[in-house]
Amino acid sequence: MKILFLSAEADPFIKVGGLGDVAGSLPGALKNIQPSLDIRLCIPRHQALKVDGFEVEPYKIFDLHRNKVESYVKVEKIEKDGVDVFLIGGEPFSRSKKVYESDVSLDGEKYFFFSLASIEFVELDNWIPDIVVANDWHTAIAVVDVYHRRSSEAWKNTKTVFTIHNLGYMGAGTNDVLTRFGVPELPPSDLPWWGNHMPLPMAAKLADKIVTVSPTYAKEIQTHEYGCGLQEFFVSRDQDLIGIINGIDLVLWNPARDPYIPASFSKDDLTGKLTNKNSIQSEFGFEVDQAVPLFTIITRMDQQKGVDLLVDSIKYLEDKNFQLIILGTGDQKLEQKSVLLEIRYPGKVKTLIKYDPKLSRKLYAAADLVLMPSRYEPCGIAQMISMRYGTIPLARITGGLKDTIQDGKTGFLFDELSPEVLADTMSRAIKLFDDKNTWNQIQQNCMAENFSWQISARKYLNLFNSM
Ligand code: ADP
Repeated sequence: MKILFLSAEADPFIKVGGLGDVAGSLPGALKNIQPSLDIRLCIPRHQALKVDGFEVEPYKIFDLHRNKVESYVKVEKIEKDGVDVFLIGGEPFSRSKKVYESDVSLDGEKYFFFSLASIEFVELDNWIPDIVVANDWHTAIAVVDVYHRRSSEAWKNTKTVFTIHNLGYMGAGTNDVLTRFGVPELPPSDLPWWGNHMPLPMAAKLADKIVTVSPTYAKEIQTHEYGCGLQEFFVSRDQDLIGIINGIDLVLWNPARDPYIPASFSKDDLTGKLTNKNSIQSEFGFEVDQAVPLFTIITRMDQQKGVDLLVDSIKYLEDKNFQLIILGTGDQKLEQKSVLLEIRYPGKVKTLIKYDPKLSRKLYAAADLVLMPSRYEPCGIAQMISMRYGTIPLARITGGLKDTIQDGKTGFLFDELSPEVLADTMSRAIKLFDDKNTWNQIQQNCMAENFSWQISARKYLNLFNSM
């Protein structure tokens, strides 16, 4: 079976959020289960791409001509975990420095080019996939393109899977770019009218199967609260909609062998975790004291993630002894609010506005609690990493957080989206932190969880086989 994965990001080459974790590890996990699978992963040749330590082989150059768009396509190849990774470069990527720009037209240009060039590339390479797995709106147009190519002999048996990692981003505002690339809008259907020319709904309509990254999110997107206007459409596709929880790469995320943390530790011996906490407390000018619970949040600064709720909750906790480190970047207003919080509570709150994978590892290893007060969370990777590092998640009960955290056993969950309720839940955690026996038990329960790809990759494989 030939499987083509398309993704805007894939760890370790480029990562902004959980999509990068998934695209970086799922193909290799599938290959592990069934070595005979022929898997290709195409990712864009972003300017910020990191390929140190990998051999990059020039593979193919060709021209892509679609309606008013003409560009060269430069394909390079890397091998990773038995998977052929292809870097798709071209003119639109030379004009953009960031993986995701605030200018939607520029992202439209980049990602429609990437999607169409990837499909054209595999055809030119005489490698027609049995299954195409496209991820999020950036690669949605590949599903549309395969749908149109199916009238040809070569593509007539190819099936498509469209995986939704985040329904909040649909590729709105790219109509003109779609027209420039000559991608026709869909005829009227059970999609709302605006969905006929928006990448994510178009792919959701045309894909053979739709995957969401947790079972709860698959149900949630069929409701008014989470469906972003597509809820009725998703209800109509319920039979083809599958929720498969993401896994994490247990080799990449392992506190016993993490080269970036000062002291290694494991479930059987957590001494190293205490050393890591001391080291972070002193690095950020906090009181070095094991008795003070250390919270962290490692996140994209986005409304979705509830950073505003967190900022507004701290005033209810002024009499409590705790420390908080915020690491994140994104929305400027949220960044500013977080910086102001540090100014207001020096010695208690530290804010770092940056994307820093090494620091994120040190924080997962040092903190007592990871906060995820998300408004919605399709899966969430941070809570799985934190549990692996013996750091207890405190999260809103939504999407994948609901599927992976058990209140009182492996974390602290709350429902109502309010700073007061978040503060109450943090108080509950701060209080329990003094009860060392219970705390240690929860920590042990977290570290005993197995979020490896084994089970989820098998579910993907069963899905592909069924198709
Ligand atoms: P999302 O995909 O919605 O951003 P997830 O929880 O699924 O959220 O995945 C986020 C991933 O990105 C985690 O691996 C997290 O550690 C990482 N991450 C987020 N922000 C930062 C940051 N500022 N620095 C380093 N890593 C980050």
